[in-house]
Amino acid sequence: METLLTISDLSISFGGVRALDDVSIDVTAGSVAGLIGPNGSGKTTMFNCICGYYRPSKGSVRLKEREITSLKPHGVAQQGVGRTFQTPHLFADMTLRQNLTLAAEFSSSGGQLMSGLFSGKMARMARQRADTLLEQLGLTAHADAIPGELSVGLAKLGDLARALAIAPRLLLLDEPAVGLNDAERAQLSALLNDLAGQHSMTILVVDHNIGFISSICSQITVLASGRVISKGTPDQVKADPAVIQAYLGDEHGIP
Ligand code: ADP
Ligand code: MG
Repeated sequence: METLLTISDLSISFGGVRALDDVSIDVTAGSVAGLIGPNGSGKTTMFNCICGYYRPSKGSVRLKEREITSLKPHGVAQQGVGRTFQTPHLFADMTLRQNLTLAAEFSSSGGQLMSGLFSGKMARMARQRADTLLEQLGLTAHADAIPGELSVGLAKLGDLARALAIAPRLLLLDEPAVGLNDAERAQLSALLNDLAGQHSMTILVVDHNIGFISSICSQITVLASGRVISKGTPDQVKADPAVIQAYLGDEHGIP
């Protein structure tokens, strides 16, 4: 099976802290993969390296054959990488529909929103895409709300819709299930399955809890203190003594 995302020997330090230490991860195209680890193990740092927010001191990130390691965040997005954040990144003074339309305009303009080449037709298409996403995620009733008026769960779904607005081929989700109620969580699982299955999207999901990830991912990588300590299917990593050890004393970890 074809690999879409190849992360090789990635390292980065902050002061004396090695946040990532020679981390390598491959993600198969069209799969839902998981990245777990206790708080502070380097998961968000990994996303920040992939997306061009942080510059790793060593290693590379490739999408198929294309190296994206040194691209800036907008360049990474142009390569078809969408991401969500632990805390939703939506403009506070814009409605959900306006937020999604802006993100869709970014992708249809090829990231050149200010170039003056953006036509009325493209603007209409971006609005349409925003409305389709609102419907797909069950957010139509909240289209005219500003982010501050949304519950945590709805804001996270809104942030997911924003990431999807650029029609990514790789979707990175940072703790998407935290703050969601049971119904929203079930909806999220179904949506991720559908995006990977029907729409051939490749998805990498971060969580510190092994439960949700196990239910949706085929392959899981486990980080502890910036190092990969285990890789495999959900059953394999759950049974791995190194994983159990790393999660000892973490009440959010393995039940
Ligand atoms: P996780 O997402 O797994 O909880 P993070 O990737 O956020 O962990 O953090 C991993 C380590 O890197 C932590 O020790 C954190 O304090 C450190 N770190 C991450 N980003 C920065 C930064 N911008 N400046 C300093 N330290 C950072
Ligand atoms: Mg994090």
